[in-house]
Amino acid sequence: MTDVAVLRNFVGGQFVDGGELFDKISPVDGSLVARVAEADRGIVDRAVRAARGALDGDWGRYTATRRVALLRRIADRIDERFEDLLSAEVADTGKPVPLARTLDVARAAANFRAAADIIAGAGLDSFLTDGANGQALNYAVRKPLGVVGVIVPWNLPLLLLTWKVAPALASGNAVVVKPSEETPSSATLLAEIIAEAGAPAGAFNVVHGFGKGSAGEYITTHPDVDGITFTGESATGSAIMRTVAPRVLPVSFELGGKNAAVVFDDADIERTIEGLARSTFTNTGQICLCTERIYVQRGVFDEVAAGLAAHADALRFGRPDDPATTTGPLISQKHREKVLSYYDIAAEEGAKLLAGGGIPELGAELDGGSWVRPAVWTGLHNSHRILREEIFGPVAALVPFDTEDQAIRLANDSDYGLAAAVWTTDLGRGHRVAGAMRAGMAWVNTWYLRDLRAPFGGVGLSGIGREGGAHSLHFYSEPTNVCLSL
Ligand code: NAD
Repeated sequence: MTDVAVLRNFVGGQFVDGGELFDKISPVDGSLVARVAEADRGIVDRAVRAARGALDGDWGRYTATRRVALLRRIADRIDERFEDLLSAEVADTGKPVPLARTLDVARAAANFRAAADIIAGAGLDSFLTDGANGQALNYAVRKPLGVVGVIVPWNLPLLLLTWKVAPALASGNAVVVKPSEETPSSATLLAEIIAEAGAPAGAFNVVHGFGKGSAGEYITTHPDVDGITFTGESATGSAIMRTVAPRVLPVSFELGGKNAAVVFDDADIERTIEGLARSTFTNTGQICLCTERIYVQRGVFDEVAAGLAAHADALRFGRPDDPATTTGPLISQKHREKVLSYYDIAAEEGAKLLAGGGIPELGAELDGGSWVRPAVWTGLHNSHRILREEIFGPVAALVPFDTEDQAIRLANDSDYGLAAAVWTTDLGRGHRVAGAMRAGMAWVNTWYLRDLRAPFGGVGLSGIGREGGAHSLHFYSEPTNVCLSL
């Protein structure tokens, strides 16, 4: 066997032995990327105890100022080890290098800096009320939640992990992190980086493995975990919620999406088609915010559909480091089977396929990878499964509409409610329709433009709670209100 890395669990400030090894396979060509030690119940227990020990010890006594300094050192160290993280992320996901460079790894350092800034600027909530003999002073002392289980998916591994870990540490929690079994590498490197930045042992722990019957379940069932922050599928969120219900644990859930775009006939069509192509095909459609439903006003329907299909045909598959590559593979063969099953469902439901579909022929070298061609469909409506269920691939179904009210109704007719995009040159309409979206986030004439202080999250099947800036602090800390009679 070639020399392949063995990724171990990180517990109490060091990498530890133990756990059966499982293979991490490259989605690009099916080759072995790494062997990963699956944390058993004992290792997860040690990680939780290390986290509790950190809270009871040195880490628990860190002032906010020291935490801010640590977070900034972590961000600097991420910048110094940028290329290592980039290689790890690309090896696990197969995404094109420029995408991982600008989106995934760049955001990791930004997440730590943003959390440091928020904590550095956070004051006490205090207010005066009527007291028994006059006024009373109320103020809330915010304390860490405690030991937080952090469970994340594979699509933006480092970005989503740091998005949770940064505010959790900023608020003084200790974390036990479980990266996806599909993307263990960058989390393992982050453990090194956080240790190098001088975090006290036990503040940050990584346990590898799967969900049910593995590390994910061991975290959610551990009696000494104080809260769970989870990003992943809605069904998994629901399962975790059932597991933690007896202990009434707080949960923060970023779940699936079935995001709509609404295109009015007054939109700048060229810019809109560019934007729709980005929101449908970026990261091979494997971003929770990606658009899978596109409602287009009838007058521009054919033009928009043809434009998006042309973009789909222009995507270039290839190795992550090939500059001509625009699009990587899906994460795994299993996920490709799921996406392809929806291609069959679309055909059964009578969809017209305008572009793509099926598996591309890329030659023997990439045949072992999980490549898929995008799909652009018309001829369906909201009652079809293609418009109701999250596919999580490079796909979109276009549906015509006539009036603004109808567009809002169609876009909001979903069990999910994560993100939406409105394309129009009418300013009033842009505000009006975006504000009417039953979704946690709505963009006007853009997509995935993020300010890290803005609230991020969804409604319905798309999740519980919001993350981002001060919104994250509400989950990662608990206030004790002190009331003083003046
Ligand atoms: P997933 O739910 O299968 O897995 C996510 C994580 O949960 C993995 O680490 C997995 O090992 C773990 N897990 C699985 N079952 C578990 C269980 N019973 N108990 C504890 N842990 C368990 O999701 P995925 O396939 O990795 O990711 C894709 C999904 O994530 C899509 O639905 C996508 O929309 C969603 N997502 C949402 C957001 C958001 O911010 N809303 C962002 C990215 C991805």
